[in-house]
Amino acid sequence: MRVLMIAPPGAGKGTQGALIAAHFNIPHIATGELLRDHVARRTALGQAVQAYLDRGELVPDQIVLDMTREAIIAAKAAGGGYVLDGIPRTMAQARAAYEIASELGMTADVALHLQADDAELTRRLLARAALEHRSDDTAQVIAQRLALYHEVTAPILAWYRDRGILVCVDAMRAAPDVGREILAALEAMRPVLDHPSAQERLPLDLTGLGEAFGATGPATGTPG
Ligand code: ADP
Repeated sequence: MRVLMIAPPGAGKGTQGALIAAHFNIPHIATGELLRDHVARRTALGQAVQAYLDRGELVPDQIVLDMTREAIIAAKAAGGGYVLDGIPRTMAQARAAYEIASELGMTADVALHLQADDAELTRRLLARAALEHRSDDTAQVIAQRLALYHEVTAPILAWYRDRGILVCVDAMRAAPDVGREILAALEAMRPVLDHPSAQERLPLDLTGLGEAFGATGPATGTPG
């Protein structure tokens, strides 16, 4: 099972990504976590990216793409599955990540979109700020991250919809409810994914499943 997650900050990518990884016994590759780990360890890379994270801006593509390539190579060696969380965030990253995965024979089976509105996301992120101390969970930086998501990340959903691999889940509910729906959706796809001769039918099946959950997401232009 190879899943990539596209979701705004606060939608629960980290929580649900960890759940999917544990359920399918596959690595959880979270670019934000990897970057924060470098910052915490004060590596050269951490020092180079800290200001971007603090401001809620995207770090340069090459840095996250190199990390992703390394992680996908490791995932391939570990059995071939993965949950990617945090990349792609732009159309350019979507294309680059697709090329990397394609070269390695590791393209995603499912693009999982978690939907929630900005008011709820802001509420969650401010609540998290009181517990954890992420440098980017301040009102101003949260607003910047949400604006960036709508501007450059949300438009790439159309690309996955056109590829027939987009599944949308309503993430406004409590985390365990969202998690149950995600696992049910992924489990329902497993026989299709595990059966090579069924691959041809994949786009139709997965789109139908996404729509069955009542989520369609924005249908903006189709790049590339
Ligand atoms: P969130 O989705 O809540 O913003 P993440 O942990 O996914 O949290 O990302 C935190 C920060 O890490 C981002 O604001 C950005 O600075 C950096 N980052 C993570 N992934 C990427 C990426 N694919 N491209 C550029 N920057 C990234």
